[in-house]
Amino acid sequence: MKVVDSDTHRLHSPLAEVEGGAAQSPREHPGRVDAIRDALKAAGGHDFVAPRHWGVEHIDAVHHPGLARFLEGAWLQFNERHPGTRDVVPDVFAMGGLRAGMTPAAEPQAIEGRLGYWCFETTTPITEGTYAAARGSVDIALTATALVLDGERAAYGLCRPPGHHATHALYGGYCFFNNAAIAAHHAAAVTGLRVAVLDVDFHHGNGTQQIFYDRGDVHYVSLHGDPARAYPFTVGFADEVGVGRGRGFNDNHPLPARTDDDSYLKVLERACQQIAAQRPGLLVVSLGLDTYELDPICDLALTTKGFARCGALVAALGLPTVVLQEGGYYVGALGANAAAWLSAF
Ligand SMILES: [Zn+2]
Repeated sequence: MKVVDSDTHRLHSPLAEVEGGAAQSPREHPGRVDAIRDALKAAGGHDFVAPRHWGVEHIDAVHHPGLARFLEGAWLQFNERHPGTRDVVPDVFAMGGLRAGMTPAAEPQAIEGRLGYWCFETTTPITEGTYAAARGSVDIALTATALVLDGERAAYGLCRPPGHHATHALYGGYCFFNNAAIAAHHAAAVTGLRVAVLDVDFHHGNGTQQIFYDRGDVHYVSLHGDPARAYPFTVGFADEVGVGRGRGFNDNHPLPARTDDDSYLKVLERACQQIAAQRPGLLVVSLGLDTYELDPICDLALTTKGFARCGALVAALGLPTVVLQEGGYYVGALGANAAAWLSAF
């Protein structure tokens, strides 16, 4: 399979993330990409290609244009007021309840306010190179998409930072720009065909769902830890089916803790049936590998052999497929799990 990757992601390497009430060593770090790349090279059979550069208009087509403008200048603006800050994290959030019964908040002028206006949580620091890294991740996603649109049966984009938690106008959850949503929107716009997004990350892809919730041209299907106990907590329930033209094009499969290979594959089979029923022209897979049994921040119980079975099942859909990396935090097996999924596909 063609694998699109680059080293641009290294520009985003925070020292810490604030999670569980404390600053911790980041779970989402450059070593994740090293592990996957090394395993794919060792497995063989993959053809590594560099990404092309894509204009910001592809990001603005999916996100509020203010989000990219903000991320481009945020680190510098913060450091003008707080010189020497390495990792910039919001501490005041523009929650809707602050102005309940009033007009919605306008974007604040002060950088401290702007941070909490464009971000929804604290695990996603902005460093000096974050914007460049996030743009590079989008370049990887769009280049992989272009390969498939040009006739490849499938391509894999080794995206980092990940993307599926980024909504139309918010970053967070390690995600700045929604790589999968940008890829799906681009594919739908170029082909005029319906695109399916299959999200198998442990965490629900709240951003992808939100971006396409009222659209019938992109069908979002997700298997994930039940938000009753799992991040992002407020989105990802089974009764969220889309609105307007998007009604019937959003399918959520919340899963109980310790779901194993056999149970998971039964649900994945159902998800694939839902995708096939809508007759898409192209499939985008948000490939999170944090469903692994030893993942440090998740609670499902898939094995490396299970990931191979998942890859084979998705391949059986027979669709042109763009596979984009999302989460996966047990680095000791991350490469083996990616190689298992992709090789089986
Ligand atoms: Zn995840």
